[in-house]
Amino acid sequence: MMLSVLDIFKVGIGPSSSHTMGPMNAARRFVLDLAASGSLKSTTQLTTELFASLALTGRGHCTDRAILLGLEGLTPETLDPAAIEPTLARIRTAGTLSLAGQREIKFDEAKHLLWHGDQALPGHPNGMRFTAFDAVGKVLRSDEYYSLGGGFIASAEELAHPTEARFSQQVRFPFNSGDELLEIAKRHGLELHELVLANEAAFRDTSATRAALLRLWSIMQSCIEQGFAAQGLLPGVLKVRRRAPKLYRQLVETDANSPVQVMDWVNAFALSVNEENAAGGRMVTAPTNGAAGIVPAVLAYYRRFEPGASDEGVLRFLLVGGAIGMLYKKNASISGAESGCQGEVGVACSMAAAGLVAALNGTNEQIENAAEIGMEHNLGLTCDPIAGLVQIPCIERNAMGAIKAINAARLAMRGDGSHKVSLDQVIATMRQTGKDMSSIYKETSQGGLAVNVPEC
Ligand code: SF4
Repeated sequence: MMLSVLDIFKVGIGPSSSHTMGPMNAARRFVLDLAASGSLKSTTQLTTELFASLALTGRGHCTDRAILLGLEGLTPETLDPAAIEPTLARIRTAGTLSLAGQREIKFDEAKHLLWHGDQALPGHPNGMRFTAFDAVGKVLRSDEYYSLGGGFIASAEELAHPTEARFSQQVRFPFNSGDELLEIAKRHGLELHELVLANEAAFRDTSATRAALLRLWSIMQSCIEQGFAAQGLLPGVLKVRRRAPKLYRQLVETDANSPVQVMDWVNAFALSVNEENAAGGRMVTAPTNGAAGIVPAVLAYYRRFEPGASDEGVLRFLLVGGAIGMLYKKNASISGAESGCQGEVGVACSMAAAGLVAALNGTNEQIENAAEIGMEHNLGLTCDPIAGLVQIPCIERNAMGAIKAINAARLAMRGDGSHKVSLDQVIATMRQTGKDMSSIYKETSQGGLAVNVPEC
């Protein structure tokens, strides 16, 4: 019952893993299931209903666009960002959808894509229902899915019985908590990255895991570079100007040696990724899109500023950061709609702090300590995106999260790993805090900055 690090880090497309990638994956899955059951050829009409958080912030998070692309059979991993606008223009102009590229049906967005912000499905705030009809209006198939954050989706059945879903890979060293992770590593005399790499062997051979992780690092770097090269305003009513390109130019031109300029670089790396994400670009979900800038920014910091940094360190970083992400996914949540921004930026900060200590050859106990610090000081962080866009506070919050992760790693590296609050205790606290948090602070844009700051 273990995930792979490649479930936690995956190639994605902006602006949201829960509101863009998850719905795209669910829409595609529904159409493929429809085809597999033999009903696609009889389908003449298809409706999609979005509930609660998906409906309340879905327009700003491009959920509508994601649904159309998913119904056409496209995936976040393989979709060319440059093909998005032409595809949507074709669908909307012609008023037709090509379901999985196999069956063309009429599609009237106002009638067939429905937003139920005042209703929720029982399993999760990010619920959606797809229904296919034949020519006489008979229901051929109707399925409900939930988008769980990080691009993960589950049917109602899978949500109720997660062990029966796809996460059933048997790994060599299964762990369910931070304490177990430390104990197993100690018993077998392993560093955490070695333990995680051994587990990954259940999914693919070691050379393929290493290659996949280095490819993800390469995509993260490309995303940073693209963000530095881009110009202008981000999409949406806020008319937010990109800041990363100017900051990058200033840093390159001044070439100053001030110690705090390192912070400027980290800020630039994080802003760049999240501006690309907000623009619907290609990035690595880590563990979500809203928080996708933190891991790349801390990794880029490691490669640029830490003496002796290497690809081996990058691998240790991603293996250990991925394992920490699995603990949050399993024992709490990585969904802003379920747990607020502590579940996105907080988790990414915790993962990056742990990953950095691993890259710097810290002990297993120091890694656990860093992960704990990274979350402890994000507890209670709300999700209140203005106008439902993944821009304010999201973009800047990644810069803050990356700096915080580096500081958490430094605090942990200055100690011997012993500390009062364990990672498991802070994860349990985060889960409970998320449950207690009012829904207005959980990706609904009904509270916080979203209601106190005018949209334009
Ligand atoms: S506020 Fe945080 S959780 Fe909410 S959309 Fe932005 S990054 Fe995601």
